[in-house]
Amino acid sequence: MAFWGDYHTHTVHSHGKGTIEENVVAAINRGLKEVAITDHGFKHLLYNVKRSKWDVIRAEAEGVRKKYPQINIYLGLETNMNSGGGNIDIIDSDMDKLDLVVCGYHRFVASKSVGDIMRFHIPNLWLDMWGKSTKKRIVKNTDAYIKAIERYDIDIISHMNYGACVDCVELAKVCAHYGTLIELNGKRVNIPDRDLELIAMTDAEFICDSDAHSVDKVGDMSLGKSVIDRLSLPLSKVANWERIPSFRSRRKKQEKGQTV
Ligand SMILES: [Zn+2]
Ligand SMILES: [Zn+2]
Repeated sequence: MAFWGDYHTHTVHSHGKGTIEENVVAAINRGLKEVAITDHGFKHLLYNVKRSKWDVIRAEAEGVRKKYPQINIYLGLETNMNSGGGNIDIIDSDMDKLDLVVCGYHRFVASKSVGDIMRFHIPNLWLDMWGKSTKKRIVKNTDAYIKAIERYDIDIISHMNYGACVDCVELAKVCAHYGTLIELNGKRVNIPDRDLELIAMTDAEFICDSDAHSVDKVGDMSLGKSVIDRLSLPLSKVANWERIPSFRSRRKKQEKGQTV
């Protein structure tokens, strides 16, 4: 009984300590059949992947793919929510270059506009500093995420409710509709227990990832698994428990006849 793959790991290309190859070898040693490299998106102010380096990173990943054919490797990004209007830090042409699109809210991200600094990032930063939120802010953040999910083929929402509070159950219903997976993150699970139980009753699916920033954490989904066990959430709702997750962006590419 085991997880099929880990779909959220970082490398030296952003804020991680390991190389792509080291993360892949760690995943193989954990017995995983798939692993994703998902470094921080282009607009993260501190740890971003440089768009200009993408072809070099892709070539590196292809080299590792050839060397380790026993594991399926995805090269994606953990993109950033960077506006209250649901923008994330990729452009449409980036989608074809990404095997997987993870999306989350992070501090220290370049905003889409000055208005978004004032009306999205600063309010969230301020409320997060005090460890609270307001109903109005939750509505606005939820709306931003919904717009992003509607607009982009986001495969996974990472660490939902971290840094920017949302109505997790309402967001889960939208995730269910579009086939976006809700992550039980390896470093933090910010979704309240009752919401997790309610989400499990919707058509949405969870996915457990490590969010590893060091090689030794690749494939460590113990936090997510402990939440599942503690709340008796059905493993049938976990997209990477003993099965290959069906990712939304890949389904879309296959529909369009693109090779994935
Ligand atoms: Zn993150
Ligand atoms: Zn991450």
